[in-house]
Amino acid sequence: TQEALIANEKLAVAGRLAATIAHEIHNPLDSVSNLLYLMRNGASPEESVHFMDMAEQELTRVTQISRAMLGLYRESKAPVVVDLKEMLEEILLLMERRLSDLGVTTTTEMPEPIEVCAFPAELRQVFTNLITNAAEAAGQGGQVKVSIVPQCASVGANGQKLQPGAIISIADNGVGIPDDVQPHLFQPFFTTKGEHGTGLGLWVSRGIINKHGGTISISSDTSDASHGTRVSVFLATDPTINAGGD
Ligand code: ADP
Ligand code: MG
Repeated sequence: TQEALIANEKLAVAGRLAATIAHEIHNPLDSVSNLLYLMRNGASPEESVHFMDMAEQELTRVTQISRAMLGLYRESKAPVVVDLKEMLEEILLLMERRLSDLGVTTTTEMPEPIEVCAFPAELRQVFTNLITNAAEAAGQGGQVKVSIVPQCASVGANGQKLQPGAIISIADNGVGIPDDVQPHLFQPFFTTKGEHGTGLGLWVSRGIINKHGGTISISSDTSDASHGTRVSVFLATDPTINAGGD
């Protein structure tokens, strides 16, 4: 069933996340062990001071990562107020090493905190999926830009009321999406990545965003020389969320 598929994809994402986290925490702790070893084994007092500074920096990194993880795994049965800027900054911090392994640089344009009602673990999954796709498309030397643009309540061109909220967009300068592929993007199991893809990322993401009363859209103009893809997620500041929970 669709529900079982979503549950499976969530487990797979959690598994990959656990591996990433282990990796992220292992490296700085390894550095600290090495620095302590050097300090015990003949480092001069001046060197020791330097090594202590380095160890402190590495430990700060571990602290940042664990703080981000606490946010991720705290279960929420009811929607809570989430600051999108803070959430995206944490996600980018967690993904930092993976992104740099892919050779991708990220920039952000998130001018101010903006709060929405949401199930945070689910939203994190969405943005992690979208940033992963962008990075995979951008590849070595590529760029991914994450931005948040607040939206005012207003009346649209054809008279419909527009809700206040925010558009979170993830833009890359990667391979782009050919016209004939675009209609299939949100179909479950649609992937162009062969056995490296599940084809569930966008499908699950759209389900989560819809449940939050939001919308997700993708634009990619392959006729444009600069190519690339932009995924835009609209979330209302004060949505009516379907019950159900994480
Ligand atoms: P997967 O990443 O496992 O293939 P997704 O559902 O996340 O599954 O994405 C489905 C397909 O959409 C991808 O295989 C890819 O062809 C396309 N796609 C998604 N995001 C991008 C992007 N930023 N740039 C280019 N193609 C993309
Ligand atoms: Mg994907």
